[in-house]
Amino acid sequence: MFGLNQDFPLLLSSVLEHGAANFGDVPVVSVNRDEAVRLNYATAAARARRLGSSLRRLGFGPETMAGSLAWNSHRHFELFYGMTGIGAVLHTANPRLPPAQICYTINFSGYRTLFIDLDTIELVEGLAPRLETVRQYVLMAPPGALPDTTLTDVICYEELIEAGDPDFVWPDLDERTACLLCFTSGTTGDPKGALYNHRGTVLNAMSTGAGNGWGLSANDAILAVPGFFHCNGWAIPFFGPMFGAKLVMPGRRADTEWLHRLIVEEGITVGPGVPTIWLSMLDHCRERGLSPGRMNRIFSGGTAPPLAMIEAYLRDFGVRTIHGWGMTETTSGATMSFAPSSLPEQEALEVMRTPGKPLFGSAIRIADDNDGLLPRDGATPGNLQVRGAWSAAGYFRRPEIDTVTADGWMRTGDVATIDPDNTLHIVDRAKDVIKSGGEWISSQALEDAACRHLAVAEAAVVAIPHPRWQERPFLIVVPRTEVSAEDLLTHLAGLVPKWWLPDSIAFVKELPHGPTGKLAKNILRDWIGQGKLIP
Ligand code: ADP
Repeated sequence: MFGLNQDFPLLLSSVLEHGAANFGDVPVVSVNRDEAVRLNYATAAARARRLGSSLRRLGFGPETMAGSLAWNSHRHFELFYGMTGIGAVLHTANPRLPPAQICYTINFSGYRTLFIDLDTIELVEGLAPRLETVRQYVLMAPPGALPDTTLTDVICYEELIEAGDPDFVWPDLDERTACLLCFTSGTTGDPKGALYNHRGTVLNAMSTGAGNGWGLSANDAILAVPGFFHCNGWAIPFFGPMFGAKLVMPGRRADTEWLHRLIVEEGITVGPGVPTIWLSMLDHCRERGLSPGRMNRIFSGGTAPPLAMIEAYLRDFGVRTIHGWGMTETTSGATMSFAPSSLPEQEALEVMRTPGKPLFGSAIRIADDNDGLLPRDGATPGNLQVRGAWSAAGYFRRPEIDTVTADGWMRTGDVATIDPDNTLHIVDRAKDVIKSGGEWISSQALEDAACRHLAVAEAAVVAIPHPRWQERPFLIVVPRTEVSAEDLLTHLAGLVPKWWLPDSIAFVKELPHGPTGKLAKNILRDWIGQGKLIP
């Protein structure tokens, strides 16, 4: 027997319209190069409707796709809705990928129209000869801002808005219709596409934004630091209209001074980003005696945040860290730490340093190399597998990649332990774990321990081959102030087992970061291979 509820498909257009109807005057702020635009959910939704109707006129709709290569702005936000609301798919290409990989993801997806902005136009001019299917560019810029360009067939985005219908009614779609496409950053082989549907995207935003996740409400103002092209923009484009939170989009600029200014001037309450961003912000505030304004929590994802950072934010500024685990294949977050306010400080820190528990709609387990289940005893490490309403069931146009187990769980490539209460602890990426004499050393745990030394600004640990032990850890440090290798070893000896102590330590001015701001250990390995970095 079926229940008598109404059919209410979970569509992105309904998220936007919810924002417009209920939080119509909440600001949507876009500050980009020389342009500062202040809209609200009512005006942004009207523009998205205009765009949707114009795109329909151009032939977009179900079974069609277009791409964007752009930074976070109100136009990119509108495009998320304008394109997906009419049943088409938007591939958010990542401008931080190496050019060959950007071309690969666009050619592989094979669409005709690419949305770009003034900060990516030069990049696109360079890529254009290698883009096999793109024939038309839409420049998301103020009216009349088209610079001299070698690109042909460039449409002005604002003309599409101008010509569109602000009262356009979004079509009904099946909630399983595909809406957005993101690629992994391809550190091992070609990037792989995760094709999200409306239902998974809406449920992901509802669950990750709710109380035990980001805890969002109309009291909040979110700074959209993570690129909209990374993991569905960490659900940020949907959080705003869904929870009535103010949304501030900083464009291409990601320097600390600029972000700090926005945090203070725009009354930001939640700052999301990879730990590198928040580490720099911490130094910036400390060195200048500044405070992070109204910001009361950061959302740290993408890689493990150092405990020292979580501790400093809480103690110096009362800023709590929400720490989440996720991957491109899980839309955005799948697990999140939640430290109830009743917890004593030390216990709260222990919770915040873990990526927490699965949010409703998502489940985790660990298994051996044959998919045999391993215990949730907080000690046994295994291959992390994930299942849920917003986890990938396979890769876009790559049916040959076998990533899902016979019983429907996705293999993540991460090694983890799980506590009896289901708290996740990421040991390492399977390819980063250091296999020493048959035992495993977690590069992430060693990096975390190194960062707890006050003189260490950032640390990376990679495996180096060893004739007897197979692999041993090599620690590479960016010093904040002068420090010796002996000092660091003494510090580490108090925090990790003796056999984990690195065999060698190097000091560098800067560590390489990948297209999403994470440590790029593949580049470090190349440096070692090329003799640029000697253990
Ligand atoms: P890429 O693989 O290109 O970095 P993703 O952003 O999809 O692209 O990365 C997902 C991976 O990031 C996860 O498989 C995991 O290894 C790592 N990761 C994400 N969140 C965390 C976290 N909180 N702690 C440790 N590692 C994390």
